[in-house]
Amino acid sequence: MLVLTDLPTCPGLFYGSRARDGVLSRMRIPGGILSVQQCWSIANLVDRYSTGCLQITNRANLQIRELHSEIPPEVWQDLQELGLASRRVEVDPIRNMMASPTAGIDRQQLVDTRPLVKAWDDYLQTHPELSELSAKFSIGFDGGELVSIRNLRNDILLVAERPSTNSEMVFRLYFNSNTGIIIEQSQTISVLAALANVYLEYTKNRPRIEGKKPRLRHLLADWGVESYLEKVETKLPFPLGRSAIELSERAIEPNANLGIHRQRQSDFSYIGIALPLGKLESKQLRNLANLAKNLANGTLRLTPWQNLVISDIPNSQVSEVNQQIADLGLHSSATNLDSCLVACAGSSGCASAATDTQSHALEMARDLAQKLTIDRSINIHFSGCEKSCAQHQPIDITLIGIQIEQGNQTIAGYNIYVGKKDLPFGRQIFPAVTVTEMPRAIEQILRVYQQFREPGESFGEFCDRWAIDKLQKLLSPENQN
Ligand code: SF4
Repeated sequence: MLVLTDLPTCPGLFYGSRARDGVLSRMRIPGGILSVQQCWSIANLVDRYSTGCLQITNRANLQIRELHSEIPPEVWQDLQELGLASRRVEVDPIRNMMASPTAGIDRQQLVDTRPLVKAWDDYLQTHPELSELSAKFSIGFDGGELVSIRNLRNDILLVAERPSTNSEMVFRLYFNSNTGIIIEQSQTISVLAALANVYLEYTKNRPRIEGKKPRLRHLLADWGVESYLEKVETKLPFPLGRSAIELSERAIEPNANLGIHRQRQSDFSYIGIALPLGKLESKQLRNLANLAKNLANGTLRLTPWQNLVISDIPNSQVSEVNQQIADLGLHSSATNLDSCLVACAGSSGCASAATDTQSHALEMARDLAQKLTIDRSINIHFSGCEKSCAQHQPIDITLIGIQIEQGNQTIAGYNIYVGKKDLPFGRQIFPAVTVTEMPRAIEQILRVYQQFREPGESFGEFCDRWAIDKLQKLLSPENQN
């Protein structure tokens, strides 16, 4: 029985939301790891109740689109028994925790965060009072993997580090920046619980802000980091450890999980599979699960970059798995243009959208694939409005949907931004580009980058080293041959 008194703004499993293309239901998959059995059940659910596809979200959730109606309550218990639904309905709206999709298998990792993800999910399942927090309250665990989530947005981020050569691994606590707090692994859940409970007390005593529950950033703006941490410390039987060291920034390569990679378990590899805009048919999910069962250890991992990983493939089976992935119409290349796309729901799913982001992104990738190849992954983000739900940080190329007035008509188009220099989207390079003109503009941007970059220079670095007027001139489609 649904017992939510305060309906969440984001869709969940127990309360789908109405989108333009039908009901949208979202499953929260802690850490993104799915067993074969879970994949089969999800594929069956889609076949039975939807005419659409599955989509992996940018928090490694799985959503089912185009449902005829909400998932009926008689199905909930089966999903709960399979670990696909929260044991308590109230817990479902709490945002999925994020971890690297290569946790436990990454050759560079310092800490395997999978037990912590499970322990924190167990804590949430037994503390439903935390559902009073904003549904956007988010926690990320970065175990020091090469496939890192540290540059993705989380209210609370724990990043593994080794303070000195012979010492134990610890986690460093970040809010929007380094707090200077160091947490021993054994203390992690206690500290997270204290952070969440102090935030809960703050929430109870504050009015809503524009109709929404206060976010952690409101607490930090009101109290400041130090005052928050002092209150947290009163709830702990030990003092918080402190370290003033500033960690150096680490460049994060886009799509680092795609392709074939050796695991830290030297006899095994994983393959990161590209899913354009995170979309996956039920048949593909079922077949990938069969592949994972027959030729690997039987798990799929969803990633916050809206693609997935098959892990623990014996090295001798890698070619066979890769071939079967191709037979399913999928690929694992980070430099295929369709691997580079990020898009929000757009006008097919969201009433606020000025443009049909998903169709425009896929059509552009198809069009440009006929004309050029790229040798380094570049992120291209389509957003239907400035809210930018699908991507919270500036990335390489951002297109913000607008309606452009042309005579008596309004037509769909985009403002195009590049680089990471200005927030929130980078620097605007071309305003009001119509949908028809847009692929040509992106083509020129990609060609110029590949032609004029310095050795090893990323797309963001290339754009950010030019003055805006020079960059506009260089990237203009008018200069295209
Ligand atoms: S970014 Fe705007 S258009 Fe896209 S899903 Fe969010 S609110 Fe809707």
